[in-house]
Amino acid sequence: MSDYDVDLFVIGGGSGGVRAARMAAQHGARVMLAEEYRVGGTCVIRGCVPKKLLVYASRFRGEFEDAAGYGWTVPQASFDWPTLIANKDKEIARLEAAYTATLEKAGVAIVKSRAVLANAHTVQLANGDRVRAAYILIATGGAPSYGDPIPGIEHAISSNEAFHLPQLPPHVLVQGGGYIAVEFAGIFAGLGAQVTLVYRGENILRGFDDDVRQHLRMDMEKRGIRVFTGCKVEAIEQTSARYSALLSSGNRVSADCVMFAVGRHPNIGKMGLEEAGVGIGKNGGVAVDEYSRTRTASIYAIGDVTNRVNLTPVAIREGAAFSDTVFGGKPTAVDHTNVPTAVFSDPEIGVVGLTETQARAQLAQTDIYRAMFRPLKATLSGRDTTVLIKLVVDGRSDRVVGCHLVGEGAAEMVQLAAIAVKMGATKADFDATMALHPTTAEELVTMRQKSASYARAAAE
Ligand SMILES: Cc1cc2nc3c(=O)[nH]c(=O)nc-3n(C[C@H](O)[C@H](O)[C@H](O)COP(=O)(O)OP(=O)(O)OC[C@H]3O[C@@H](n4cnc5c(N)ncnc54)[C@H](O)[C@@H]3O)c2cc1C
Repeated sequence: MSDYDVDLFVIGGGSGGVRAARMAAQHGARVMLAEEYRVGGTCVIRGCVPKKLLVYASRFRGEFEDAAGYGWTVPQASFDWPTLIANKDKEIARLEAAYTATLEKAGVAIVKSRAVLANAHTVQLANGDRVRAAYILIATGGAPSYGDPIPGIEHAISSNEAFHLPQLPPHVLVQGGGYIAVEFAGIFAGLGAQVTLVYRGENILRGFDDDVRQHLRMDMEKRGIRVFTGCKVEAIEQTSARYSALLSSGNRVSADCVMFAVGRHPNIGKMGLEEAGVGIGKNGGVAVDEYSRTRTASIYAIGDVTNRVNLTPVAIREGAAFSDTVFGGKPTAVDHTNVPTAVFSDPEIGVVGLTETQARAQLAQTDIYRAMFRPLKATLSGRDTTVLIKLVVDGRSDRVVGCHLVGEGAAEMVQLAAIAVKMGATKADFDATMALHPTTAEELVTMRQKSASYARAAAE
């Protein structure tokens, strides 16, 4: 590989790129990584981590309210958005420095610049410098989309800007029905804003289990979030310091902030893909095989830019698999099945495996076990909320093929349930496991009756 300046050039210092670069260096490769914004990428700088910090902040409201039933007198609490944002920014800066230090310690050379492909072995930096590499890894992630152009779209913000608003807007309109939209609706509402969620589909969280979608919507509405489905924002007008959004239903919603969370697209624009012979897949991302290799043998792509499963742990796993394949002498393909995922809405969602609809389409027999109950904590607090626990079981093999949870701690619970589902545990294995009492998760191992329909269960 000595004809080249480096063995590996990584474009993008996000979750996937950082892991791939570090591991390749540990395998002995000479690695250079270019990052055009901040090391850490979407997850660390303006995704998972800052979002979860805002989610934590938003949940204190409920805790203060719930405390009264447990005998606490909590003085009128007040919230200061600039303090939260400043503290969040400090933590993000610390993480960025830690990521940079880890890379440097592993021997990775970091270039703070945009980088694009010039050909199959050459990367061009913003200052015109060219670097020749034996292998190039595209790990440029994704960016927020705004959907079809509408009048006044320039007034809308995306999740990127939501992390840096100078003040908490008193009324926020969020357009979108995916996990980022419902998470931010919960954050703003928890922190004290009035929130209206507008989504063009028939219900929020397309792709999730229908019971989960219905359950979350019900609970969001109980918490005061207005949810309008089957319509979309058609125009945004500025009226002094506020905005007036015209919906396709004919309604108007006034808001101090309009946030669009209508999807994300892979960062493939002006990347020189064509010059390097790299193809685009049907899903709009860089097309790759199971080893993340593009049509050009020296160029690989991982993470959100491939638009496979757009989650941080997946990008990290793909980065590690790439390095093992190319520099570790151990060809490794990533298994994209049974990836657990969470929505940090209020209440929280944790899921792994097939939805009921997917199972019914794929399996000869599907059995459903479902429990809906008031969590113990809500008894004294008086909070009007219910937990949903649902197992989707292959009726022929008895394997648990899906687990869907809505309620406090759902994400933590599903990470553990995912091990059992991944291992191929059966419903009998779940039943043979002793319950841990009193917990919410004990319902996972105590459901004996196949379930009635959700509508009936909700009515009981
Ligand atoms: C609001 C939000 C919340 C999220 N929450 C979660 C969550 O809770 N859990 C979860 O698992 N996932 C979550 N995600 C998704 C997660 O952030 C991504 O899946 C993950 O960051 C993808 O990693 P990546 O390495 O593919 O790309 P990224 O992390 O996006 O990194 C790509 C990097 O490449 C840089 N770059 C782009 N083009 C160039 C170029 N030409 N030259 C140089 N640098 C370039 C970018 O600046 C960026 O730093 C969230 C995303 C968002 C937006």
